[in-house]
Amino acid sequence: MDMEERKVVIGHLYPDLLNLYGDRGNIACMMQRCIWRGIKAETIEFNTGSTIDFSKLDIVLLGGGSDREQAIVCKNLLEIREQFREYIEDHGVVLAVCGGYQLLGKYYKTGSEMIEGLDLVDMYTEQEEGRLIDNIVLQSDLADMPVVGFENHGGRTYIKDNQPFGKVLYGSGNDGKSGYEGVIYKNVIGTYLHGPLLPKNPQICDHLLGRALERRYGSAELAPLDDRQEEAANSYIYHRFVKE
Ligand code: GLN
Repeated sequence: MDMEERKVVIGHLYPDLLNLYGDRGNIACMMQRCIWRGIKAETIEFNTGSTIDFSKLDIVLLGGGSDREQAIVCKNLLEIREQFREYIEDHGVVLAVCGGYQLLGKYYKTGSEMIEGLDLVDMYTEQEEGRLIDNIVLQSDLADMPVVGFENHGGRTYIKDNQPFGKVLYGSGNDGKSGYEGVIYKNVIGTYLHGPLLPKNPQICDHLLGRALERRYGSAELAPLDDRQEEAANSYIYHRFVKE
């Protein structure tokens, strides 16, 4: 097919409740990297209560939220659990950040309540003493470059035998103990890195776009872009926190 006929449709789930630290910057990054390549891109926002047709979507973004917002949004998510599960099992691409990442698991136990998760990935989260707040640097199989970001969470996520998103080179990660961060399940990436993650990690952005295009069009082909600025930002963080 003519490559310029390709289009990526991004579904932003519940930006009215889940949009901490500018998680929507991830969407701006995905859209722009498509547009630079002549690939059409569209974002559909689904606020709480709207009906979601997952068959129209190529990428789903689930952002971060406070404990209070998570407790509210979890009710909405549980209503769409089966459609969301089908989408994920059918290799639909998902980026779930922080509060959204926690909700992919069985539950998130805060100090005072138990928030039921979607149980789409076999993992769970429990709040423990102290928040894990700092810059973070990972080594991920999905990129040659380090993955850099910022984390701020009270919950500790236990991913059992699932594949992590990366190994922690600096920072705390999933639970501050295992040395790993995030989760990869099929075409889902769950991560605590927000603020936003993709502009500083263009290879992760292209990984998601590639998987989405492959699923819909059978080809993950992406023209190279001039990433010198992105690489400079990434390298600055890497050298500041990991290696002089
Ligand atoms: N409320 C969750 C926690 O503190 C997630 C916060 C977030 O999305 N930054 O663990």
